[in-house]
Amino acid sequence: MRLQSILRQVQPVPGFVYGRVDLRPTRAGPQLEVQVRPRAGARAICSGCGKKRRGYDTLRPRRFEFVPLWGMVVFLLYTMRRVDCPRCGVVVEMLPWATGKSPMTHAYTWFLASWAKLLSWQETARRFRTSWDAVFRAVEHAVQWGLEHRNLDGIQSIGVDELSWKKRHKYLTLVYQLDHGCRRLLHIAQDRRARSFHSFFDMLGEERTKAIRVVASDMWKAFLNVVRARCGGALHVLDRFHVMQLMNKAIDKTRREEVRSLRAAGRRPYLTKTRWLLLKRSKNLKRTERGRLRELVQSNLRTVRAYLLKEQFQKLWRYRSLASATRFLEDWTRQAMRSRIEPLKTFARTLRKHRYELQSWFMARSAFAAGATEGFNNKARITTKKAYGFRTYKHAEIALYHALGNLPEPPWLTHRFC
Ligand SMILES: [Zn+2]
Repeated sequence: MRLQSILRQVQPVPGFVYGRVDLRPTRAGPQLEVQVRPRAGARAICSGCGKKRRGYDTLRPRRFEFVPLWGMVVFLLYTMRRVDCPRCGVVVEMLPWATGKSPMTHAYTWFLASWAKLLSWQETARRFRTSWDAVFRAVEHAVQWGLEHRNLDGIQSIGVDELSWKKRHKYLTLVYQLDHGCRRLLHIAQDRRARSFHSFFDMLGEERTKAIRVVASDMWKAFLNVVRARCGGALHVLDRFHVMQLMNKAIDKTRREEVRSLRAAGRRPYLTKTRWLLLKRSKNLKRTERGRLRELVQSNLRTVRAYLLKEQFQKLWRYRSLASATRFLEDWTRQAMRSRIEPLKTFARTLRKHRYELQSWFMARSAFAAGATEGFNNKARITTKKAYGFRTYKHAEIALYHALGNLPEPPWLTHRFC
């Protein structure tokens, strides 16, 4: 079987034929070059209107990078024609394998983009002997195409989250779809202001916003107000993930303060290096960790009391009935208020202030993917960390949509190269 026949199957080029194939040695290794020419008698297609038109002249030969084969870089070589179009004037022809300006074939663009989902952009570039910029452009193209062609109808549950990015105190607002059967990143905005969240509803449009039934968020005030303004009819729930995040922050604050006061009193600060011990769920602890925890518990420190209250608090999420959950919550906040542990008291006050949104969680829990935000948050964190080449917000945005957006791909990709 000739290479041309294989190419015709994996990458058909109607109106064109594959010609000579050359193996050319280069400094970076051997390189395959495949000539492409118009089929005899086939007229060129105008890139302006898509109609077959009379030829005008030809330009200089160009190279279009194709999917690598057996570790070799592959190029399609083609001399582009210009057409004389009565409607568009003298314009360059349309090609089935690439857009006129790009030095990459569609096949190679989507090939790189799909690898960039598995590897970092740097690794992808190295693997396929191309540049970081080429990988970025491929991913950017895939994301743009996906955003233009995705379907945003029928969204019923959304969740909003924030991600600290780059330096400290720089945030991104991320909006997810949290429906059973369809979870994906829908929107990214800079900062975590009301304006950032508003931009999501502007993008979605009024009709689709009206169809939203559940909005899950944290207690960030700017977001709370936006939900009220834009989604008044939806059930607003506090995300379990965010509640536990806040709880963990309270525990950690208690621990740090206590370490400081133990040191000040000249006592052994035996709470250092126990942070993860106290933040982990007890069922996930290893044997040795359990032993250390038991030791700690006997010491009757404030941190340990806070930890025990946290463990007790976990029970909340197991309640199926709203009435029992409410009763439990009242008992628990009362205990926390009596604990004389300031960070925990603040936490309890916050819970009281948001009791309706907390109760709503129990009403809505089966209607949406209540646990999904945590997974998304982890994946978003890994994505921004993995692509250490992020220089700008734009890079981070493209990478996040690519990794979490569940974006569609063109149905006309005739062959999956990877
Ligand atoms: Zn035209």
